[in-house]
Amino acid sequence: MARHIDPVCRLCRREGIKLYLKGSRCDSPKCAIERRNQAPGMHWQRRGKPSEYGLRLREKQKLKRFYGVLERQFRRYFELASRSPENTGEMLLTIMERRLDNVVHRLGFAPNRAAARQLVSHGHVQLNGRACNIPSLLLKAGDTVTVKSRPRSLQLVKLHLQENPPPVPDFLERLGNDPPEGRMTRLPTRGDVDPRIQDIREQLIIEVCSR
Ligand code: SF4
Repeated sequence: MARHIDPVCRLCRREGIKLYLKGSRCDSPKCAIERRNQAPGMHWQRRGKPSEYGLRLREKQKLKRFYGVLERQFRRYFELASRSPENTGEMLLTIMERRLDNVVHRLGFAPNRAAARQLVSHGHVQLNGRACNIPSLLLKAGDTVTVKSRPRSLQLVKLHLQENPPPVPDFLERLGNDPPEGRMTRLPTRGDVDPRIQDIREQLIIEVCSR
């Protein structure tokens, strides 16, 4: 009988890499990739060598899935990155890092980006002291993110912070725990991109997006 695979973990199996979509489970032996790293479906072995285009497409899908971004939004980010005088690939990655849901996750307020997105869209987070429920909002240097001072919001975030406080990347700082608060001290650079996706080949993504 085929073993049930979590639909989220299927995305990792499909890309053949760990996308860290499920928080602490991803670092445990229960991770579906650790158990068996193969594409989903009975006929996964019959898939041939990917084409040049397929290779580039997979790289783009990895990035989108890692940050939980859909195609339309991704296209917008690509347009933004290509208008910048900086390197387009690096700019694209740093735009992903500036998303509010990503910042909430990397400050350690949520175990993964999906949980961070829910925290924001359910109104548990304030940006510069004002309510903000848009997970895709891009932060600027100096912006502060605070968890609302109400029992339900604090309970959700503190539980995770106590259990597993992750190290904060250089472009962010945690200001306090009561209520949990953090700030983006400067704009992120290529080196600040989440280490778990550091080896992404952004040049391939640019090539597929520019077609
Ligand atoms: Fe599932 Fe996380 Fe492992 Fe991916 S990395 S297969 S989401 S447990």
